[in-house]
Amino acid sequence: MKYAQDRNASGEILRLLIQKMAAQPAAFTPPNYAVWYEFATGINPALTEAMSKLLDGGQKLDDEAIDKLYAKFVSECNVDDERILREDVQKLLGKIAGFTAETNKQASEFGNNLQVYGDTLKQNLDASKLGALISNMADDTDKMRGSMNNLQTELEASRQQVEKLHKELESARGEALIDPLTGILNRRGFEGKAQQIFADKASVEKGLCLLMLDIDHFKKINDTYGHLFGDKVICGIAAAIKSKIKGQDAVARLGGEEFAVLLPETAVAGAHAVAEQIRSSIERGKIRRLDTQEQIGGITISIGVSIYAAGSNITELLDQADKALYVSKEGGRNRVSVYGQS
Ligand code: GH3
Ligand code: MG
Ligand code: MG
Repeated sequence: MKYAQDRNASGEILRLLIQKMAAQPAAFTPPNYAVWYEFATGINPALTEAMSKLLDGGQKLDDEAIDKLYAKFVSECNVDDERILREDVQKLLGKIAGFTAETNKQASEFGNNLQVYGDTLKQNLDASKLGALISNMADDTDKMRGSMNNLQTELEASRQQVEKLHKELESARGEALIDPLTGILNRRGFEGKAQQIFADKASVEKGLCLLMLDIDHFKKINDTYGHLFGDKVICGIAAAIKSKIKGQDAVARLGGEEFAVLLPETAVAGAHAVAEQIRSSIERGKIRRLDTQEQIGGITISIGVSIYAAGSNITELLDQADKALYVSKEGGRNRVSVYGQS
């Protein structure tokens, strides 16, 4: 099965897509819906990239444009996905087995040679024979080191390839990485991105902070102005957060009215400053009501910040940021708190 969303999740997407499709001239045909569905969930990265380019360039998506997108990225691409993936994994396994066998062979030769050198040393050798033996040992060690280096390079290349295959498999499974309402990462996508960021040791050493953001009294906003206005607020907040962070930072909607931002190469002072900028820009902002067009202000968010320490993982950081967020809520909302500094 290609799409993993259940009735509820797909229903939410349906509601959103009707509006998006209505804003474009193409007919409401099944291929058109498939294109938009895969775009909104982010399960088809190549399509998302091509379609984002068209939309960003202001191009209208008419029947012809949709037909092209459907033919190129949706219809043919998926038929053989799983088979091709299986073959790729098979090839990769063969390659890794090959390198490992070659290195094993060399290691065992090296071991045998060391044994011979050891036995030879037990005899009484003169200086020139000893010199020759040491020089042979040096040659063998060099060879072994070269072979180990090769293996390491090949294993690193294979690791990257495995990662790529893993991503392809995820998109073939149809599990969404993007939140359809806001277009930013969802929790799953965020966890994947966080894994990549955590794996980059050099960048982590320069500092890493996490912000957890939650809209204040959102239930009341929904109750007062309606759920659709609530959705508009969620989108507005996502856009405000995005406008205050850099390309290497990851931003996600974790669920409901809760967001997270991961800031690589950022120490706590910088993270606090970013959080404060986001908080104050939202406090100053206004959002128009859908019915009366009245401008609604006074919407605020609370933020919790956590700081990476050697050995922490994303779950811990999220948990600590959540605790700091709770401190912000308890302290009266519309504020930033740092974990361990209250
Ligand atoms: P607090 O300041 O303590 O965060 O209070 P709150 O009202 O924001 O928090 P609470 O968790 O009680 O309420 C969150 C509300 O968010 C309840 C739920 O109906 C609403 N909500 C969750 N997801 C969505 C969504 O996608 N759209 C809209 N419009 N509302 C949502
Ligand atoms: Mg809230
Ligand atoms: Mg909440």
